[in-house]
Amino acid sequence: MAEKFEDLKYPVVVIIGGGFAGLELAKKLSRKPFKVYLLDRHNYHTFQPLLYQVATGGLGSDAIAYPLRKVIGPMPNVSFRMAEVQRMDTDNKKVITDVGDFAYDYLVLATGTKTNYFGNSALQNLTMPLKTIPEALDIRSYFLQEFEKALVEQSLSTQEAALNFVIVGAGPTGVELAGAMAEIRKNVMPNDYRELDPSRMHIHLIEAGNRVLATMSEKSSRDAQKFLEDIGVEIMLNTMVTGYDGKELKLKDQESILAETVIWSAGVMGNLPEGLPASFVQRGNRIKVDEFGQVPGLDGVFAIGDIAAMISEKHPNGYPMLGSVAIQQGPWLGENLIRLANNQPLRKFVYKDKGSMATVGRNRAVVDLPFIHLKGIIAWYIWMFVHLMLLVSFRNRVIVFVNWAWNYLSYERAIRLIIRPYKKKDLNGE
Ligand SMILES: Cc1cc2nc3c(=O)[nH]c(=O)nc-3n(C[C@H](O)[C@H](O)[C@H](O)COP(=O)(O)OP(=O)(O)OC[C@H]3O[C@@H](n4cnc5c(N)ncnc54)[C@H](O)[C@@H]3O)c2cc1C
Repeated sequence: MAEKFEDLKYPVVVIIGGGFAGLELAKKLSRKPFKVYLLDRHNYHTFQPLLYQVATGGLGSDAIAYPLRKVIGPMPNVSFRMAEVQRMDTDNKKVITDVGDFAYDYLVLATGTKTNYFGNSALQNLTMPLKTIPEALDIRSYFLQEFEKALVEQSLSTQEAALNFVIVGAGPTGVELAGAMAEIRKNVMPNDYRELDPSRMHIHLIEAGNRVLATMSEKSSRDAQKFLEDIGVEIMLNTMVTGYDGKELKLKDQESILAETVIWSAGVMGNLPEGLPASFVQRGNRIKVDEFGQVPGLDGVFAIGDIAAMISEKHPNGYPMLGSVAIQQGPWLGENLIRLANNQPLRKFVYKDKGSMATVGRNRAVVDLPFIHLKGIIAWYIWMFVHLMLLVSFRNRVIVFVNWAWNYLSYERAIRLIIRPYKKKDLNGE
């Protein structure tokens, strides 16, 4: 009788995180001589680049999420556990989770990032982040609740606070969110909230640096800024947020802004479970790894994706925290683990930069390819095509495509639903 896979003694690989990096690694190790445990606190993979569309009612959450069990279903040597990793015990080669311990031969950290508030607890408790699907749904509910509130509110200052939307951080998330909010003001407000004057809704995009989309080319920054200004987004560059009490956003050397909806997209930091000595941790709470993805000095421990700061001459602070880096590192590490098991030399990671892009609403996007910069409608088509192709499943692609076609033809964002009303936290985070 053929031996069952579970009875064979293969090295155990524990992957923490079913994001781009962890999932691509699991796919690479499928049907290879390893026993793989994929751990994630969620039972689904999230396509983060389209979170802003869930937050603004353009897509439902099931369009950008996909069950991890469904992905690993056809992989006989890969098991999924919905588990929150609490600590890594690298001396005893195990990880401690809320559903038990997992011993490993190889441990791969692919835990991504979390929102960075730079130690400001008021901002952490009172502004809204956009890193997960529940957070996107909270934003969707909250801004719709604010419209409802502005309609029935008599006091002008309360109305103003309800209709001012502030986005802090003008990276791709902030820029895309601001573009989408401007479209809501133009296309949704006049129909849904006829009694409200759309010109009273303000969208402020605040950035501490001197340009929007600072990680892209200067041309892209200029074009994106122009696109945003054309659709009425009020951009404040070189502006530092210093505090927030839930209603009034304080700015350094500038007048404060009355706003109940403040979205914090000003930074992320490594999402690092406990257990690694501080000497292994790099700027931004990322783990320092060599060009083979190994954590130097820790036997069998690797890190890939956003959590890994892979230092090289060309990238002294590690690679940028991008989906494309994570997607390339997953299969590359899988290949190296196979080589390791076969006593073959490991290969260094070489990032193939295929470009970056951001959209600023209908028909407008900027794209930086290695040798050319594109803007406008062509860039927008490229942006849509690339994002559709990167989605994990065919089902997701179909749903997103149909929703986009509907939104394009109808000029609306159909999922304007307050399913789970959002209650803002207080200063203590309660
Ligand atoms: C709003 C937004 C927009 C973005 N837009 C773009 C874009 O347009 N283009 C681009 O290239 N990149 C974009 N990015 C960045 C891109 O999404 C990340 O670079 C990419 O997701 C990193 O992949 P990863 O696998 O390293 O981590 P992630 O995809 O973040 O996955 C990490 C996984 O680990 C799990 N996890 C974390 N900690 C634990 C724990 N303790 N226990 C169990 N599970 C845990 C999480 O649940 C998650 O599933 C965007 C990111 C955000 C937030």
